[in-house]
Amino acid sequence: MIYWNNTKIIMLHHVSDLVEFKSLEPYSISNSKFSELLDYIEKNHFRTRNFYDIKNQKRSHKDVVITFDDCSRELLNFAIPELIKRNMKAVFYIPTGFINSFNEWDVIEGKDQVDFFSEQEIIEISKYSNFEIGSHSVTHRKLNQLNDNDILQELIHSKKELERITKKEVISFAHPFGEMPSDNKNLLEKAGYLFACGIYVKRQNKFALRRFIFHNGDNTASLKKKLSINYQIYRAIRDRF
Ligand SMILES: [Zn+2]
Repeated sequence: MIYWNNTKIIMLHHVSDLVEFKSLEPYSISNSKFSELLDYIEKNHFRTRNFYDIKNQKRSHKDVVITFDDCSRELLNFAIPELIKRNMKAVFYIPTGFINSFNEWDVIEGKDQVDFFSEQEIIEISKYSNFEIGSHSVTHRKLNQLNDNDILQELIHSKKELERITKKEVISFAHPFGEMPSDNKNLLEKAGYLFACGIYVKRQNKFALRRFIFHNGDNTASLKKKLSINYQIYRAIRDRF
């Protein structure tokens, strides 16, 4: 549906100047690169949104959703204070099996270990009405490699756990590695979600939303391109799923 082509969703993971985050590039950006992104959004009058807004309000082509996957504790040192200072919204996707733990799947690949949010930190973040806490599964496995029952367990248990911690309804999900199961829509609906993000999505619907990565190699010109309708059309042609 053309309706969803208006939704511009940015996928971020880590924001840090610390040396250990270097190995996580392109999924880690510097503090100044993050500021550049927020400056661009402000200067060009885009509006940051979360999925509670998208559920309740009419959307506009100026809407931008900033999403963070995995959520290292380091976000508390720069990215989150910067969002608060600028009164901007964001969505944080948390794999519940790794609360107060670390990025096991990156470490297996030889990348550096970084610490994730604790339960108390998730509670603090969820108190800001601009911020949404979403699920990123329990075990951070590729859901397209699991059977339907195991996928449902991942979807249901992570949602329940985050709702217990935040006392708020969890309405959106981000697929680990952007890999979506074939029965995506039915499973997400069954588990009670209203929205879900992937990465490379050919035909979008509210359970298969396309995202674009913003990395250290991006600049004002590439960002302008990635936020354009032409880029959405390009991605609809080129994306894999
Ligand atoms: Zn992830």
